Amino acid sequence: MFLTRTLNSFYNALLSVVYPQACSLCGGSVEDRRLGVACAGCWRETQTFAGTDIICWKCGALSWGTIEPEKRDRVRCRQCDGDAFTAARACGAYEGALRASVLALKREPFISQHLVNLLAETQGRAPLDRATRVIPVALHPDREKERGFNQAAVIGSALARAVQLPFDEVSLMRTVHSGRHRAGMDARGRRESVAAAFTVCYPRLIEGDRVLVIDDVFTTGATVSACAAALLAAGAEEVFVLTIARPVNC
Ligand SMILES: [Zn+2]
Ligand SMILES: [Zn+2]
Repeated sequence: MFLTRTLNSFYNALLSVVYPQACSLCGGSVEDRRLGVACAGCWRETQTFAGTDIICWKCGALSWGTIEPEKRDRVRCRQCDGDAFTAARACGAYEGALRASVLALKREPFISQHLVNLLAETQGRAPLDRATRVIPVALHPDREKERGFNQAAVIGSALARAVQLPFDEVSLMRTVHSGRHRAGMDARGRRESVAAAFTVCYPRLIEGDRVLVIDDVFTTGATVSACAAALLAAGAEEVFVLTIARPVNC
């Protein structure tokens, strides 16, 4: 184990010397390949959530003020009351190194070790630590064919491996191509169109499970809420959501 780790870090150091990679934010060199597309300095300047921030317990939206630790799970923003998931969390703000990592993941099916560690830390905190199965937000098969991969599945499989949870890419299917429905629609129309977009293929697989749904960014919550509704209707006990990032100023 020690030898493998030593060899790995030696290999990483060697690669960084032979093929130095430029940070996609500041242009400086990325000292360690495990950091992915951003350098250590840019990672330090990116806001990650440590589990101590005051947030809406349900959707993870940042809140302000102070509160006694034992009342933290009673904080609600009320914007998410209609959402079907139990609780949603993100590793940090959609800015800096996290945003750069999300954008890179749309082009290439690769996720850095540093990001996997952040995801694993976030999953390890309550209430996401109750999850028993990892399921990525499904892309419509036509869309997946266009892109060549599903970025949510890349994130989900790496996380599942890291935290030793089963990874399930077959249960949740997207039956409606969102692109065809979204043009010219307002927020409510989009929410309604995505609500019926997901189907659970093998309800017996997820019955009684506490599912962790994975996506790259949490924006309105409409997509993950639609996934959660389908999974709960098919018999899942609880549905949690984990994303790489979420906007903090909205
Ligand atoms: Zn940088
Ligand atoms: Zn909320």
